[in-house]
Amino acid sequence: MIVYFPVIYPDELVYSWFCRYYVHSGCFSHRIAMQELFCKRSDNASKEFIGNLNPEAKKQIEQIYSLDKLIFNHTMYPQYARFIPLEQKKKALYHLKHDFCDIHYLLPILPRNEGERYLRYCPLCAKEDRETYGEAYWHRKHQIRSICTCAKHKCKLIESDVPAKNEQSFTFCPAENHICQNEAVFEDNILMNQYAAYFNLVFDAMMDFENNIPISSILYDGMSRTKYLKPSGRSRHTKMLAEDMNKFYSKMGICSLASIYQIQRTLLGSGFDFFVTCQTAFFLGIKLEELTLPSLTAEKIKQEQNSHYMKDSVPVDWDLLDTENAPVLEKIAEGIYSGTANENGKPERVSERLVYRELGLLGQQLQNMPKCKAIFERYTEPYPENWARKIIWAYKRLKESGEDFCWTDIRKISGVKKKNFESTIPYLMKHTDKDTIDQIIALIE
Ligand SMILES: [Zn+2]
Repeated sequence: MIVYFPVIYPDELVYSWFCRYYVHSGCFSHRIAMQELFCKRSDNASKEFIGNLNPEAKKQIEQIYSLDKLIFNHTMYPQYARFIPLEQKKKALYHLKHDFCDIHYLLPILPRNEGERYLRYCPLCAKEDRETYGEAYWHRKHQIRSICTCAKHKCKLIESDVPAKNEQSFTFCPAENHICQNEAVFEDNILMNQYAAYFNLVFDAMMDFENNIPISSILYDGMSRTKYLKPSGRSRHTKMLAEDMNKFYSKMGICSLASIYQIQRTLLGSGFDFFVTCQTAFFLGIKLEELTLPSLTAEKIKQEQNSHYMKDSVPVDWDLLDTENAPVLEKIAEGIYSGTANENGKPERVSERLVYRELGLLGQQLQNMPKCKAIFERYTEPYPENWARKIIWAYKRLKESGEDFCWTDIRKISGVKKKNFESTIPYLMKHTDKDTIDQIIALIE
């Protein structure tokens, strides 16, 4: 039974708050603390969101803080949901509050780049927190993707040893135990500090739940004042924009660089990522309020929407597109197939739909790209084969945990139903040894 929740600190992640709850409540084990908070045994703590709270915990929490307050002020929702279309934004909020489901179905969460894989902190914020509150905590704004400095202190953020992944976190890692007393290293690059400040302000700005102005229209408007949009307004110089952005940000020393495809998708209204959008907007000199409180006329929005189709009239250089896309697709497909790109680490099936979505292709366009097509064919597999790989993955994961488990645990983690098991047997043989197969079969019987 939950007896006591500490006060949540400004900009503190809910995860950090739960970590402190675990410490202060004197719970004997992480598992007991998790059981007090979450619904099922397989639920884990979410680093960036709230997690699957059980009704009792939810009720107690709501007596202190509303879920809205927690979501808007203490999770990374304002980052991931900021630029997605209005309906999707509302839907994600609803599910976070009332009907828990995998966050990846709700929000675009890109694989993490170098420098984003662990929870980060600012040594000066930690020092101040220890002085003010007697303990350090995990701040949200230090976790914003692609920024490297604390906007408040203008010093470099430090990576802790706590993974930032939302999944697979079955322990609480309180900041107080994981933040060292480091010397602050100040950032002397003015641009870098402006960049961090810009991201922080966008992150903090009120979110619009009334108007549905596509982010592609806002960026188009910003581009219309630059050389990246032809005077006719009919086509964008996306390649030039992406190359210039790349040079600009590489020189600044930023590790997460938006790729040409990510920029293109955002400009054409099918990508909504926070860091890609902010990076593009900052580069184009779009003012904060233009980005967060836009006032575009319906006519301007229409003009931008119409421009999406103009590029079709320009002949596409398929060879070039194929060559440029191949290494990108290889990386994406490998990450999805092996599971390393997936937050939960589960090996997924590389589908044609996914390739089309990732590369922003239409109709049968993959036929024009032999290199990409070959990569897709190399990674794709029948469903039973993917199920087999998921079962093996789940089995190994459970085995590593060192605790007893049964078929139900494998089913829950892998998502593979018992009735489908038989079809996976030939593929189990392909992907693992006989011993492992025997042990899995013994579990199911
Ligand atoms: Zn700081």
